[in-house]
Amino acid sequence: MKASLVPTLAAVLWMSAGLGAGAAEEPFPAHRVAGNTYYVGSKALATYLITTPEGHILINSGFEETVPLIRVGVESLGFKLRDVKIILASHAHSDHVAGHALLQELTGAKVYVMEGDDKVIANGGEGQYHYTSSRWKKCPVDRVLKDGEEVKLGGVTLVAKKTPGHTRGCTTWTWQEMDRGMAVNVVVIGSPNVNPGYRLVDNKDYPEIAADFAKTFETLKSLKCDVFLGAHGDYYGMLAKYETSQTNTARISNSFVDPEGYKAYVDLKEKAYRKTLADQSSK
Ligand SMILES: [Zn+2]
Repeated sequence: MKASLVPTLAAVLWMSAGLGAGAAEEPFPAHRVAGNTYYVGSKALATYLITTPEGHILINSGFEETVPLIRVGVESLGFKLRDVKIILASHAHSDHVAGHALLQELTGAKVYVMEGDDKVIANGGEGQYHYTSSRWKKCPVDRVLKDGEEVKLGGVTLVAKKTPGHTRGCTTWTWQEMDRGMAVNVVVIGSPNVNPGYRLVDNKDYPEIAADFAKTFETLKSLKCDVFLGAHGDYYGMLAKYETSQTNTARISNSFVDPEGYKAYVDLKEKAYRKTLADQSSK
């Protein structure tokens, strides 16, 4: 049966607020994005599988409820969850990392986290900005990453770009894939969103938040992006691009290659950030 492309209310809430554990997760067909990079997340919460001859990398676990869907997705592509060696994250909000502990238990994989988000994940949500009551199962962190550090496995090198603001250790992942004989740059945006309730001015809990967002937009604009991805599919229009990929049976072009869409999205989000900053500064 063809999956409905209308987002559920829960999905919309997660996408806008980045939170909301407890609601049922909606499955989505796992699919190849480019080369050895696959989407194995739920409809609302993006999880990426990067396969290599020496095991696999997963970016984002979603909620605990997402993990069984990730397993189904990985297996539907012919891979095994137990071959996952490294678990990464977009940022330490519950909808991307609450399933980390369960995923780690199931795979025995190592968990790598950007500095700034490492303690939040290790402490099960404690210490995060704004969502002070959000909690999940604590997950030991095996390696704390710094901006620009590389994560290598089986011939693939992922670069961790620190893009803070949304969280202190929000991470944008970038790497190269070979797709249809061409090298393409993949970018998974960590999150450029100033969420409802965030204070950019006079923020006692996160004083450097505005400067962090400003730095993040400079970083995002500096990245070379062919394949545009993000922590939620709605960042890059996943549903429509997936539909196109299914009808494009000749597979001559890759619907996930969208450098202009990437630029437009970053520009849109930077304008939204600047408007919120101006609005809050004038009050
Ligand atoms: Zn978030």
